[in-house]
Amino acid sequence: MLKWIDIVKFANNGNPMPTEKVVKTNEEWQRLLTPEQFRITRLKGTERSFSSEMCSLFEPGKYACVCCGTLLFDAAEKFESGTGWPSFTQPVTENAIAYNKDVSHGMVRVETVCNTCDAHLGHVFPDGPKPGGLRYCMNAVALKKVESNERKATFGGGCFWCTEAVFTLLKGVSRVESGYSGGNIDNPTYREVCSGMTGHAEVIEVTYDPDEISYADLLRIHLSTHNPTTLNRQGADAGTQYRSVIFYRNEKEKGIVQSVIGEMQPAYGDPIVTEIAPFEQLYKAEAYHQDYYANNAEQGYCQAVIDPKLKKFKELFKSKLKDTQKVKADE
Ligand SMILES: [Zn+2]
Repeated sequence: MLKWIDIVKFANNGNPMPTEKVVKTNEEWQRLLTPEQFRITRLKGTERSFSSEMCSLFEPGKYACVCCGTLLFDAAEKFESGTGWPSFTQPVTENAIAYNKDVSHGMVRVETVCNTCDAHLGHVFPDGPKPGGLRYCMNAVALKKVESNERKATFGGGCFWCTEAVFTLLKGVSRVESGYSGGNIDNPTYREVCSGMTGHAEVIEVTYDPDEISYADLLRIHLSTHNPTTLNRQGADAGTQYRSVIFYRNEKEKGIVQSVIGEMQPAYGDPIVTEIAPFEQLYKAEAYHQDYYANNAEQGYCQAVIDPKLKKFKELFKSKLKDTQKVKADE
């Protein structure tokens, strides 16, 4: 999560590398854009506040650069700022946007531009909502809404190295990230979470397409690939950070969680003690925890704990695996 200090560093010391670069002449942009889009994005214009319906639009999806189509923001990070310009708390990736010091109009501000094509987007301010505290104040004209079918699900089932390794193999799952949820401090570190004092659980956030895999199936897989009957413990890992937990995002999901737990209960001798809690915030884990199994398959913990788990999972859920994984499961 970017904080104001990161933005200041980017503006002063240089911006993160973009994934790709798009360069066109003003004449070329003029042919591709409406006059208003050209004025805002290429000539650093500002639209009138309250001039776009995008301010009051909060449906799921993503927002892309109107010039080059690069994804810039997720609707989940959009908030009502009352300013009359669409406002976001974080970009979709840390290198999506570049930052320039702007001293025009007798003010010192930080201008935001698309890091791919240098389109002027608006400015960013340090007065946004917690926990990041940023407010990306955007020209609606510089953005276009991209419909997206993607949904997110957040679970904890012990060490996130294991749970991440499992869900990465599923068809319909486009991304799995490790992090911390359900605690009581902002931006916890791994060390703080491991102390068991912050209340966070080690969790994974699964990005999936509900047309390819249902929320109920994700829950069934989650409940079959860890032990949901041991309170605050998975095997040798003990502490509330290893608790079995499902974070739902709306009442409909809560109902599905309850019904899938009811359906799975007979498969276990002991009562399922999985916590069911509303999702509030995911703090991404440090980079070295991401793709841990893929990057550390030779390590002792992976071979002793994760390998057997994956083998069992592949046998149980063969039909749900990505095609590239099915071949491996047959070997
Ligand atoms: Zn762009």
